[in-house]
Amino acid sequence: MVTLKEALSFDKNEIANLKEEIKDKIKNTNINAYIGEVESINDGVPILIKDNINVKGWSVTCSSKILQGYKSPYNASVIEKMLDKNLSPFGRANMDEFAMGSSTETSYYGRTLNPHDHTKVPGGSSGGSAAAVGGGLAVAALGSDTGGSIRQPAAFCGCVGFKPTYGRVSRYGLVAFSSSLDQIGPLTQNVEDASLLYDIIAGHDSKDSTSANIESKPTAPNLNPNRKLKIATLDGFIKDATPDIQKNYEDTKKALKSAGHELITKEMMGSEFAVATYYIVATAEASSNLARFDGVRYGNRANSSNLKEMYENTRSEGFGDEVKRRILLGTFVLSSGYYDAYYIKAQKVRHLIKNEYDKIFKEADLILSPVTPTTAFEFDSKKSPLEMYLSDIYTIATNLAGLPAISIPTGRDGSGLPIGMQLIGRDFDEQTLLDGALSLEREIGYK
Ligand code: GLN
Repeated sequence: MVTLKEALSFDKNEIANLKEEIKDKIKNTNINAYIGEVESINDGVPILIKDNINVKGWSVTCSSKILQGYKSPYNASVIEKMLDKNLSPFGRANMDEFAMGSSTETSYYGRTLNPHDHTKVPGGSSGGSAAAVGGGLAVAALGSDTGGSIRQPAAFCGCVGFKPTYGRVSRYGLVAFSSSLDQIGPLTQNVEDASLLYDIIAGHDSKDSTSANIESKPTAPNLNPNRKLKIATLDGFIKDATPDIQKNYEDTKKALKSAGHELITKEMMGSEFAVATYYIVATAEASSNLARFDGVRYGNRANSSNLKEMYENTRSEGFGDEVKRRILLGTFVLSSGYYDAYYIKAQKVRHLIKNEYDKIFKEADLILSPVTPTTAFEFDSKKSPLEMYLSDIYTIATNLAGLPAISIPTGRDGSGLPIGMQLIGRDFDEQTLLDGALSLEREIGYK
């Protein structure tokens, strides 16, 4: 597949041909990365859009039954920005229902398959976006990352996944899961494309009250892989990863050293605290955000004889099991008597996690860590929700701290499945993060 950089120099005819080529490819593969019809809005370069980002006139369903038939009345700010640069939203990407999950197994449209091995999950929740980019079915895609949903599927599918700093990219028009953690970002074939697409979607937006009013300088024209950076490694975390990933982590450290970077070893609070904190904060916010899906305002309405029954039936029939579990958990941690014990405590731990990162960033420019403890796993292999939640141990803490992070393909495991490593940066210093990522990408030369 052509890269975004190449496609940006195409004329109208070449782009029209590219869109036909993508449609043919979708017809001839069965990985179920795209859901619904592929529609084109303008004659720009096609970008695949996750099913939780509003595109005017398109259906937006978060891969849920409850939103079947609902059409967006407006464009998300990221879509407006793309249209201004003549990029073309092109196709809907499958995802875990309401972005809750790590495998794209909970979609109403059925599972997406990993393009490298159809018996394995593509990761999630942006599994459709990652499978399409990693499988050569899309030039680039947009996803959303609340606890790893861009980076983890990118690592499983062998593409680049970039979560910008919280507040850097407008969330206006992104269906909210956990508003204090959600962030939109690009999934691309390489670091330079991630930087190009990021530049287009980033920047302050008065329509999003959490959007940061900080100047956003373009990163792509300033990319510099030759800067020598100080990179912290968290070697204490690595024991939870498989031997293949541990070895790749060591190889990545060597690659960073040979590219001229200085490595320092640091320690951080155990990842189990981040996971516990995340599943309190994220479920609390989700239970509140998803209260709006009541059968009155959006999408599906179930049969019923009175108002209360309508709410109950609509929500019982419309939401899948994982979404219901999160709403129940969130309602529980916010209920009187438990609010202080769980929710307030989680907010305090969240603060501690941010402090730990701040301490490391006093000395280091970037942090290196694996993206996932395993490579892509088999369908139905996670036997409990908790097991699934633990697949995010390396990605979740950065969302709690609001930091930017990028997942880069760095190798393969014994069975040929992609492995990804992650660089984490200081807040609002996307430039240094992308510079380091480009340097690593060039040193590794992953194909
Ligand atoms: N896998 C995590 C969850 O299930 C993260 C999801 C995400 O980033 N949207 O909540």
